[in-house]
Amino acid sequence: MSEVSCLFCRIINGEIPGDFVHQDERSVVIRDINAQAPTHLLVIPREHIESLDDASQKDEPYWVTCCGWPRAWPMPPALLKAATAQ
Ligand SMILES: [Zn+2]
Repeated sequence: MSEVSCLFCRIINGEIPGDFVHQDERSVVIRDINAQAPTHLLVIPREHIESLDDASQKDEPYWVTCCGWPRAWPMPPALLKAATAQ
């Protein structure tokens, strides 16, 4: 999926409305329209990343420092390597 057709990029670009609760230079946070809990937020990186498997070491500060790594998600190999390299 390209940035042009990516739902999240289209929300960030204002083509599709979103209920924004936070925005900064690296990410936006919106309320999920299909919330599975009383508070269900989506943190979306401004830079299009095709999938978590495509996240690279350069994205590690974003995922781990900014957002925290969701415990239920397996860490992509590149990020696991970066996180355990020190
Ligand atoms: Zn995107």
